[in-house]
Amino acid sequence: MPMGRLAVVTGGTRGIGRAISVALKNAGYKVVANYGGNDEAAKKFTEETGIPSMKWDVGNFGACETAIAKIVADHGPIEVVVNNAGITRDGVMHRMTYQQWEDVIHTNLSSCFNMARLVIESMRERGFGRIVNIGSVNGQAGQYGQVNYAAAKSGIHGFTKALALEGAAKNITVNAIAPGYVDTDMVRAVPPAVLEKIIAKIPVGRLGRAEDIARCVMFLVADDAEFFTGSTLSVNGGQHMY
Ligand code: NDP
Repeated sequence: MPMGRLAVVTGGTRGIGRAISVALKNAGYKVVANYGGNDEAAKKFTEETGIPSMKWDVGNFGACETAIAKIVADHGPIEVVVNNAGITRDGVMHRMTYQQWEDVIHTNLSSCFNMARLVIESMRERGFGRIVNIGSVNGQAGQYGQVNYAAAKSGIHGFTKALALEGAAKNITVNAIAPGYVDTDMVRAVPPAVLEKIIAKIPVGRLGRAEDIARCVMFLVADDAEFFTGSTLSVNGGQHMY
């Protein structure tokens, strides 16, 4: 039993993050769900789930610092962090702007540093911590038109292993999940013809569901999961066996 452990889920109001927030709440965790700018979706999420939502840019260290200080003051020490917030800004390399690169690196990768850096000292002092980073099959395999996204997600996988080594003696586990294509707004933005081709390559024959990913998070954050660290769980319907 988590006995009311406090979990923060970045990008926790929509898509995969929403399913993670709800699964944590249903298992007895106190949850704060972060989001980036979509106030309407966040309001609806809080009304429907009863989970508080909080807006800040996870790519901005100062914004994370302010938000985490407030969460700790309001709710107590943060014991579980799910680094889930992410964006795509696709384009082939010869057309990609520096802004597209920077936006994706900051939101998807620097966010993991920002959040982990700001909770790690408290986790070390308390001798407990669970950090789960959401990577991607496209960080493992690469993807046309996504040098920025693939670099950020691949970076997450290395970040996870290095931080897992540092946390191991303090009962802080750090793991990643690499989802395949999951039916969320992010994937609904893919042109239907492209999506059809993607689904045809998934042996299970369907897109993932956000709940498929939330199920893995629940396994990784469990109190008795301390022997499971530095791993990447590939959850992709058999699309890429890594
Ligand atoms: P969605 O686009 O459905 O939701 C993204 C969430 O992240 C939203 O809550 C959004 O907030 C939040 N967010 C975006 N930018 C920021 C920011 N700068 N600061 C704080 N929050 C932010 O994404 P998915 O649920 O599809 O994806 C979740 C994660 O899973 C991402 O990291 C993604 O890369 C990864 N992933 C997704 C796959 C998929 O097929 N869907 C496959 C593999 C990995 P707001 O509502 O305010 O915009």
